[in-house]
Amino acid sequence: MQPNSDPHKSTARKTGQRLYLAFALLIVLALLATVVTSRSWFGTSQSGLNEATTGASATTIPSAAIAASSTSSTRATSGVVQTASSTPLVYMGDPLAPQPPPARVDPASRYYTETGHYLSGDFLSYYDNTPKSETLLGLPLTEAFPEQFPGGTLYQVQYFERGRLEYHPESAQRIQLGLLASAMLKGRTFGPLPTLADTKTRLYFPQTGHTISNGFLNYWKANGGLTTFGYPLSEEMGEDGLTVQYFERARFEYHQDLEGTPYAVQLSPVGYTALYAERFNIPMGTLVQLDPPSVAEGHTTEIEVAATAGVTVTGQYEGRELFFKYDPARGVAWSLIGTVPFADTGARQVTISLKNGDGGQRTVSRNLEVDSYPFPSESLQFDPATATLLDPAITSKELKMLNGIFAGRTPEQYWSGPFSMPLNGQIRITSYFATRRCYNCPDGSTPTTYHGGMDMAASIGTPVRAPADGKVVFAGALSDRGNTIILDHGLGVYSLMGHNSKLIATVGQMVRKGDVISLSGNSGLSTGPHLHWELHVSGPPVEPREWVARSLP
Ligand SMILES: [Zn+2]
Repeated sequence: MQPNSDPHKSTARKTGQRLYLAFALLIVLALLATVVTSRSWFGTSQSGLNEATTGASATTIPSAAIAASSTSSTRATSGVVQTASSTPLVYMGDPLAPQPPPARVDPASRYYTETGHYLSGDFLSYYDNTPKSETLLGLPLTEAFPEQFPGGTLYQVQYFERGRLEYHPESAQRIQLGLLASAMLKGRTFGPLPTLADTKTRLYFPQTGHTISNGFLNYWKANGGLTTFGYPLSEEMGEDGLTVQYFERARFEYHQDLEGTPYAVQLSPVGYTALYAERFNIPMGTLVQLDPPSVAEGHTTEIEVAATAGVTVTGQYEGRELFFKYDPARGVAWSLIGTVPFADTGARQVTISLKNGDGGQRTVSRNLEVDSYPFPSESLQFDPATATLLDPAITSKELKMLNGIFAGRTPEQYWSGPFSMPLNGQIRITSYFATRRCYNCPDGSTPTTYHGGMDMAASIGTPVRAPADGKVVFAGALSDRGNTIILDHGLGVYSLMGHNSKLIATVGQMVRKGDVISLSGNSGLSTGPHLHWELHVSGPPVEPREWVARSLP
């Protein structure tokens, strides 16, 4: 760390300078203390990374880098933090308190609007020179500040969502990753297995007596192995409804419903959990997670923010209201985001506002990366009589009425688990969701719109079933969608079934997954008998098959 190289401009500059001055003073005092007690400064090296990188010679697990009990009592306070001994100030202010943005751009320092923290100097260089650091570490949750480690040594550290950077002036490897998984283990240890032979899909580590297998092994190898994650401290196990495994610096999570995507294996927020375990005063809205972390256009992602009971959480995505539901079991408020096909690609902002009962409030933002998706294209030909229904005066009036319904946010969640297809038996999809369309255009024309639903072939009179529990909020004839029935599944999730020949369920009725709600037909703007299923999430229509394939949230 180069203490004087990167002072932030504006208000943050003063804070940073005080911090570094205080830190420098502390280093001097710590050195004196070290000499007095005849302990070696270098002997306190945090052993994890070094042992990991030297490989087979290491035989023991380094003791936890965090001793919550020895230091936690000094950390819960904001403002001046002091150590328990006679050591003077170590940090002016609260390292977790969000900082104001810089008055002007400083290339030696990066400000994260999302969390209100700066990343500077050597930590910034490390972050920028480490592949996939955004995935592996996430956003900074603190400023850089000196923290006392077991043994009394002070290290400059900075916490991130999924890790902690440490500056070790005594070591050849000056920037090291903290051994944070211990905070999540809460004192648990898992005994070693007897020696096992390595196979193509399993490695055994005599250093800890644990194995890494299959998908976790692939992820471990692909993202830096020992240097990044350290040795396994457990086998795979079930926790929080997921398969997880502990490593020295990480906790792997297997998200089965995201198998086949880059997000089947995700990292737990061990940096945040360590701050929590050390009883830091954590500002509201510090931990926000997106699952999956990025989403394809026309698909659904879940956003969750760590919150306590009594905190009111509201949010917006692209100007649309997000309804947050509090889950006491997980300690989070969560919402679902549907992204608009052909419109929402790129980085899109989500804002979350939190209010507690004491009048405290905070608004945070996150960028949701929306990837493009290869939706198909088609041209549809209508006879002249049917084509009159394409008149914008007709289509926009119908859309306006429907958008009024889809803007609703019923606070109950009626559905649970994956949705089912609305037709029994073998299903033939005749037009996929979000197919780019051009109506009555020559083949090869540029699409002008997209299909907001998914079409399934169905002879007239085929029973149409509720894909999930819900309440009927509309049943009637529409110009384009024909005889239409709409189910409110709660929390801003709606199903629309169009082109029916007969409507069976009635407005206000609660229906269960699988109940027959209508009979399919060919009414409205339709080129043949079929069922049109639209699924709306927090406003826009999304790919319904994703909701059949996996359980949301
Ligand atoms: Zn359709």
